[in-house]
Amino acid sequence: MDIRELKKLADALDDNGKQELIYFLQSRSMGMKAPIRMVDEIQEQKHKDGLVCPHCDSHSVVRFGKYVIKTRAGEVKRQRYRCKSCRLTFNDLTNTPLQRTRRPHLWVRFIECMIEGFSLRKCAELLHDEVTHVTLFYWRHKILSALKQFPTETFQGIIEMDETYFLFSEKGKRNMTERKPRKRGGKAKYRGISNDQVCVLVARDRQKTTFSGVLGRGRIRTTKLDEAIGEYLSDSNVLCTDSWRAFSSYANTKGLAHYRFKSDGKQRVKGVYHIQNVNSYHSRLKRWIDRFNGVATKYLQHYLAWFRYLDSKEYENTMSNKKNMLVSSCLFTVKETNTNLRRASFSF
Ligand SMILES: [Zn+2]
Repeated sequence: MDIRELKKLADALDDNGKQELIYFLQSRSMGMKAPIRMVDEIQEQKHKDGLVCPHCDSHSVVRFGKYVIKTRAGEVKRQRYRCKSCRLTFNDLTNTPLQRTRRPHLWVRFIECMIEGFSLRKCAELLHDEVTHVTLFYWRHKILSALKQFPTETFQGIIEMDETYFLFSEKGKRNMTERKPRKRGGKAKYRGISNDQVCVLVARDRQKTTFSGVLGRGRIRTTKLDEAIGEYLSDSNVLCTDSWRAFSSYANTKGLAHYRFKSDGKQRVKGVYHIQNVNSYHSRLKRWIDRFNGVATKYLQHYLAWFRYLDSKEYENTMSNKKNMLVSSCLFTVKETNTNLRRASFSF
């Protein structure tokens, strides 16, 4: 068949079909080679200041033979190291989300799916069912537990800060103790803010440095505020918030200049001071999280980290974003095992 005919056929596909065709072609052309280069990249980034033992941080490390892993692309040889201090061995992927993975060739594709925010079932389908959606649940949360560690930089100048609430949810838990399960998100039992809701604080400066964190159940408290963001603030910051009292007393104790805005849905501005950026961050976050039909509260911080990353990259599914997300995730220590991810609980 002639390439023009093929293009015509491809053009007739719907958006889903086109997406699948892209994945198919990518897997045929460069997908097999890319993950191996990616591991090289991880190795270089991880050891940019020299070899360090992931178990005890010692620099006294020697190379300790190679080991072979079997992938669908064939056998791959990997370097093993040994620490002279603690005598343990490790490799480039020890304590990373990719530790012990037997399917390195699928991770780049999986990262693509994460950028798109696809459901786990859709991800499994796009990975041609080589991995079950249950396994992909663990992959997702291992990556997220790295993204959660991406540092928040110190804020500069004007900071817009506002809280938003998510329903407390024990989605996925078998024996719910607190109350009957809600179907798909559902509505809060009480009007106003109660323990049925989980407070999420977002603070964002005009350079788009963003903090987003789960502060606990019920109304926001000043002490929680300081624990969450105190370390990122300096007395040169100007705080813009809604009129909630906790923010005022917090700004006072920190000695920060403070502008308050009524949160009645009307947009208000005092010159360059307003809370429109943080409010639109909230709406993007809510809209994005809706696709998951309710998120278990114990994983909410993971989803916040995921969203913060995607929002900073403007949701673009480019090769450089994929590479950045995978490689930089491997630079943080992730020791989560499938078992402790499953047993994670929400504690405040
Ligand atoms: Zn060691």
